[in-house]
Amino acid sequence: MNATPEGAEVRTGGCLCGRIRFTVTGPAVYPHTCHCGHCVKLGGAPVMWWVGFERVTWTGEGGEPTWFETFPGKAKRGFCANCGSRVAAVDCDIPEIGINVPALDDTSGVDLAPVNASFRENAVHWMPPVPDTQHSPIG
Ligand SMILES: [Zn+2]
Ligand SMILES: [Zn+2]
Repeated sequence: MNATPEGAEVRTGGCLCGRIRFTVTGPAVYPHTCHCGHCVKLGGAPVMWWVGFERVTWTGEGGEPTWFETFPGKAKRGFCANCGSRVAAVDCDIPEIGINVPALDDTSGVDLAPVNASFRENAVHWMPPVPDTQHSPIG
């Protein structure tokens, strides 16, 4: 973590192959896991791990991720077209850019620990959802 002249936190991340690279600024907003059907299918895993940031800058040679609209005109997920890594999500109802936490170079920050699980009723029975310690600011 570095500091910009304005004092905002700066973090870096990217995809597995390195074509998609980014920096995000601002505090980590509402880190959470999600068990929704889209996350399970797109992530290829029982759960995805998300966090919001105020701003993202795409810095790699691949530019922006390839966007797939999960809800056309309302929500989209960004991935690397070369290696398939999921990196980001944009939702028209949420001001922050959603970042797939494992895409960050450093995932050890305590401020990235999930504070809630979305769609916990979808969670596989052998993997308990994270505790609900902060209700969603989203609706
Ligand atoms: Zn890649
Ligand atoms: Zn989800």
